[in-house]
Amino acid sequence: MSPTDPLHPPATSGPLLAATALQKSFGDNQVLKSIDLNIDSGQVVALVGPSGSGKTTVLRCLNGLETPDGGTVAFRGGPSVDFGAKVTKKEALSLRDRSAMVFQNYNLFPHRTVLENIIEGPVQVQKRPRKESVADAERLLARVGLAEKRDDYPFNLSGGQQQRVGIVRALALQPDLLLFDEPTSALDPELVGEVLTVIKELAEEKWTMVIVTHELAFAREVADQVVFMDGGVVVERGHPDQVLRNPREERTRRFVQRLL
Ligand code: ADP
Repeated sequence: MSPTDPLHPPATSGPLLAATALQKSFGDNQVLKSIDLNIDSGQVVALVGPSGSGKTTVLRCLNGLETPDGGTVAFRGGPSVDFGAKVTKKEALSLRDRSAMVFQNYNLFPHRTVLENIIEGPVQVQKRPRKESVADAERLLARVGLAEKRDDYPFNLSGGQQQRVGIVRALALQPDLLLFDEPTSALDPELVGEVLTVIKELAEEKWTMVIVTHELAFAREVADQVVFMDGGVVVERGHPDQVLRNPREERTRRFVQRLL
């Protein structure tokens, strides 16, 4: 399933991910009520909505950082994992490998160099040869303009550079799906552009991505599908021009009026 070249997305087309009726509660707080998400290979999905509507939780459920209470998640070529039933360790692991997350606060290990941060997953978790992982990491760093930062520590990098390392770290896992959790919201405004540019380039190369973002102008530019969530449900979804410019639902209209 993995591509052989981390600089390019897997050369596949058609449906990649089907998530149905995802539910998740934290105590009495039902955060996801019943979320459906269908993504084709090469598609960019922007997940938008007010704070607390459950967007991050959706990403974390797809990536195995949270376990849904119910619903199914199926990637092409893998099992349909039914969280309403007992999920085996093998099934849970089969999902984790398919996607990689880019976090709002980068989540780099502060005491490891840029290179060590990037090869940690491929070498320690995926058991790939160290030499090959280093070579891939170097190519990926060069591609985002950070070749010379290889041996630096994260605290010597700007926020924008750290986030570009975060993106490289995700790509190095050779996932089928990239998940971005508000990738620019921790950045000073003048650093947002360099990160959005990298994400745009990935979109042009046809990486499959789900991006949680408040940057609606960016979502309109880059997304094939916009999904608007509020209160743990999908209120509206569709082409960016429709959802963001001409929403059908009053809740969507109020949200986009505030942000655009
Ligand atoms: P969004 O990304 O749309 O801002 P989140 O998915 O982060 O929304 O959060 C949705 C709700 O779930 C919030 O009320 C948040 O406080 C709650 N929540 C998220 N993660 C946890 C957790 N690990 N424990 C308890 N509550 C959580």
